[in-house]
Amino acid sequence: MSNDILVNIEHIRGEVAEISYVMCAAAHQLSQATGGEVYGVLLGSGAENLAKGLAADKILYVDDPRVANFTSEAYQQTLQNILNEHEPRAMLFGHTSIGMEIANILSAKTGLPLISSCLYFSNGSSPKFTSLLYGGKILAQGELPSTTCLITMVPGGYKPEDGHSSKESTVLNTAPPIFDESRMSLVKYIEPDSSDVDIASEPLLIAIGRGIQLEDNIEIAEELAEAIGGIVCASRPVVDQGWLPTSRLVGKSGFRVKPKVYLALGISGAPEHVEGITGSEIIIAVNTDPAAPIFNIAKYGVVEDIFDLIPALTEKLSES
Ligand SMILES: Cc1cc2nc3c(=O)[nH]c(=O)nc-3n(C[C@H](O)[C@H](O)[C@H](O)COP(=O)(O)OP(=O)(O)OC[C@H]3O[C@@H](n4cnc5c(N)ncnc54)[C@H](O)[C@@H]3O)c2cc1C
Repeated sequence: MSNDILVNIEHIRGEVAEISYVMCAAAHQLSQATGGEVYGVLLGSGAENLAKGLAADKILYVDDPRVANFTSEAYQQTLQNILNEHEPRAMLFGHTSIGMEIANILSAKTGLPLISSCLYFSNGSSPKFTSLLYGGKILAQGELPSTTCLITMVPGGYKPEDGHSSKESTVLNTAPPIFDESRMSLVKYIEPDSSDVDIASEPLLIAIGRGIQLEDNIEIAEELAEAIGGIVCASRPVVDQGWLPTSRLVGKSGFRVKPKVYLALGISGAPEHVEGITGSEIIIAVNTDPAAPIFNIAKYGVVEDIFDLIPALTEKLSES
C-alpha cells in the first residue's frame, strides 16, 4: 500500500463539480499526515482540459468513450483497476449521487472499508476522520483503517478555493481496463422545469425548511421576500409536500445556488441541503435549535423562532 491519496474527479457536461475541489483540499491535508501525494483520478473522453486548476500533484487520466459519461458499470471497472495498481492509502469520492453509487459498489467488489459522509480530517499521530451521522445531527470521529479505504466527502469542511491551483499537475495517461460487455449507457439528462424563476442565478434567497410547519405559513416568507427583494426557495420536505415547485428546491436533488445572501429559515442543514448552498457568499441561519448543523456553515446565526423573527423583520424592512 502506498501513502498516496486518490481523488475521484467528478464532472458533468464539461464542468468539474465543486465537490472535486473540496476533495482536493481535503486530500492535501490528509496527505500531510500520510506523507504521500495527491492524485486526481479523471475519467472521460477528450476531457484532459478538466485537469487544469485542480490542486493535485498528479492526474491519472483515463481517456475512453466508455467513461465519457458516468455509468457505475464502466467507472467501477476502471477505478477498481486503478485501486489495484496504486493501492493508495485512501480514495476520496463526493458524497453525491455519483460518488455514493460508485464508492459503495467498489467497497462491495473489493472488500475495502468505506467511510461515509466525512466532513474533515485531523492530523495527529495517526489520521482521523470526522463524519456526519443522522443527517448531520451527530459528529462521529474515528481513525483511518490501516488498509486502503474509500471515503465519501460531504461539503462544508474545506473551502473549494483551497482545492484550486494555478500550478499545472503532471497528467499521467492511464490505460482503461478491458471492459466487460456494457449494459449501461447514458440516455439523456432530464432538465428541471425552467418556466419558473431560476433560483441558481438569484442574488437574494429566502429559504424555508420544515420549520415553516404549514403551507399557509409560507405567506410570511413571501411577504419577507417582497419586502427585501428576494425569492423564496426551500429544502426538500417543503417541496415533497407539494407546497413549492421543484424549481425552488435547493440541494442535492435540486439546485446549487450561489446568492450573495442565503437566509435559511427553519432549516437544519442536512448534508444534502448544504451541498446546494456552499456557493453562497453569506449564509444567515435562523433556527430554534442552537446545535443545528446549519450553524456550522452560516456566517451569521440567530437562535430564534422564525414565527417571531420573520414578521418583525418584514415590518422593519417595510418601514425603510
Ligand atoms: C438522496 C437524498 C437527496 C436529498 N436531496 C435533498 C435536497 O436536494 N435538498 C434538501 O433540502 N434535502 C434533501 N434531502 C433531504 C435531507 O436529508 C433532509 O432531510 C432535509 O434537507 C431536511 O430539511 P429541513 O432542514 O427543512 O428539515 P429538518 O431537518 O426537519 O429541520 C427543520 C429545522 O427547523 C428548525 N425549526 C423548527 N421549528 C422552528 C421554528 N419555529 N423556528 C426556527 N427553527 C425551527 C428545527 O430546529 C430544525 O433544525 C435528500 C435526502 C436524500 C437521502
